[in-house]
Amino acid sequence: MRSRRIEYFIAARLSILRIRRALSNRPDLHVRRGQLELIPHGILPMSLGMPDDSQTIGELKALIDSFAQEREWEPFHSLKNLSMSISIESAELMEHFQWIEGKESDSVAQDDAKRTQVEEELADVIIYALQFANRSGIDLSSAIRRKVEINARKYPVEKSRGRSTKPERS
Ligand SMILES: [Mg+2]
Repeated sequence: MRSRRIEYFIAARLSILRIRRALSNRPDLHVRRGQLELIPHGILPMSLGMPDDSQTIGELKALIDSFAQEREWEPFHSLKNLSMSISIESAELMEHFQWIEGKESDSVAQDDAKRTQVEEELADVIIYALQFANRSGIDLSSAIRRKVEINARKYPVEKSRGRSTKPERS
């Protein structure tokens, strides 16, 4: 049987998650240690560190949008420029793995300094992808789910397990 203390903790955690979800369009408001905080202009909630399991894609899209709006960067963010930027940042990510072999490349994630650099490049790729979604009005959650369904039909488990090649068409 769960103790009262654990029950209270779970209830408090759930209310924080609900409030965060409700605030997805207000990147200037943030819940920290159960308290609603107003983030001063120019200081973004990213510095507060929210892990993947408590942050929605909508919140991240709003965060990126407000960052660009504050700097009046929208005129530069055409879909052409954003798609190119995704590719440029992904080349910067690849640069960290150039000339090293497959297995060795996994060890980059174990080295703190290299991991930070790789993390920053991966973040750049995702930031531009989120900006692209904002500009084009693409709902990423629906797009990803739809594409996973397409991939599931294209790569049936029984024909694709343990294989990196495309299954033969029947
Ligand atoms: Mg970069």
